[in-house]
Amino acid sequence: MARKPKPNLKTSPKSRPEPTKVPSVCPCCSGKAYSECCGPLHSGEGRATSAEQLMRSRFSAFAVGDAAYLLRSWHSSTRPARLSLDGDTRWTRLEILGASDGGPFHTEGTVEFRAYYRERGGAEEILHENSTFVREGGAWVYVAAL
Ligand SMILES: [Zn+2]
Repeated sequence: MARKPKPNLKTSPKSRPEPTKVPSVCPCCSGKAYSECCGPLHSGEGRATSAEQLMRSRFSAFAVGDAAYLLRSWHSSTRPARLSLDGDTRWTRLEILGASDGGPFHTEGTVEFRAYYRERGGAEEILHENSTFVREGGAWVYVAAL
């Protein structure tokens, strides 16, 4: 250890690349505080109990720039080797349109949603997707878009 320790400016428990983006209201539009919604899932303190909750937490991870969580919540067969989030994309809101199965007693499920975003201050754009989720090792993970 030859290096001097850096001044510790970060206060979040897990070091994230951009802790400045941590919001108070959850980006997934649940109306709850981030710390009581997707925050605990991102930090690893909590686990999604449904496919929809995992979907919400993945949208929030895009919004706060948590690439590590996105990789962790991706099925091992479809997970990209690495993921770099585009800093020019701002994820603005999420609308859940419907879900099938994906509950505590299921092993698979789908969630249909609209994710709204803007690029470089441009007009709002919409990503409409019906996604599949399965449990892997007991935890809900994202597989792919249908
Ligand atoms: Zn949330």
